Amino acid sequence: MNSQEQNDDWKRPIKQKPRIAVLALQGDYAKHVAMLQSLGADAYAARLPRELEQADGIVLPGGESTTIGKLMARYGLDDALQAASEAQTPIYGTCAGLILLARQIKEGTGERGGQPTLGLLDITVARNAFGRQQDSFEAPLEVPAVGGEPVRAVFIRAPYVTETGPDVETLASHEGKIVFVRQGHVLGSAFHPELTPDDRVHRYFLSLVTEDEQNSLAE
Ligand code: GLN
Repeated sequence: MNSQEQNDDWKRPIKQKPRIAVLALQGDYAKHVAMLQSLGADAYAARLPRELEQADGIVLPGGESTTIGKLMARYGLDDALQAASEAQTPIYGTCAGLILLARQIKEGTGERGGQPTLGLLDITVARNAFGRQQDSFEAPLEVPAVGGEPVRAVFIRAPYVTETGPDVETLASHEGKIVFVRQGHVLGSAFHPELTPDDRVHRYFLSLVTEDEQNSLAE
């Protein structure tokens, strides 16, 4: 595929109206809902296990991963997410969501040790890893999977990925640090694509969802 074809791929309208649950326990969920709705998805804020079960795709937003993790366990949402993943439902975690999806948090980087994670991405993450001077920053990020110009990536007390398992694909790195990964139906980014008008990363996520629907229709 040449780069022009790759670019054009992202201009196609999304045909189905997939139901996307955005976990809404804490943090930055409303902007994800708005962006996904603007792309034609039936996106909604989800707080109950059944709202995750009904979804064709799930987004775990940024926020505070310790808080979101505790609330998730309290309401049985961790089990619902495990079940959704087993059913191959596409899941996308941004920032705190990436941390929650990781198999492991690098020792010494959690503000509280022993923070539980879902382990749906075979990665190790370091929390708040860009250091104080770079607490929050924007950077142009080459993301070949979404085509076109670099993505303007917004990082807010962001983690990065320190180790990846054999099934994990690196979709983008910033200054040698892995910040966007995919393992099959699970995506995770250290940055916040919901905070800029550029919707290519959300489109990419939706393409996993709609491809999945086509596959299941073909069966
Ligand atoms: N620093 C937060 C954490 O460790 C993540 C920040 C974010 O989601 N923007 O949970």
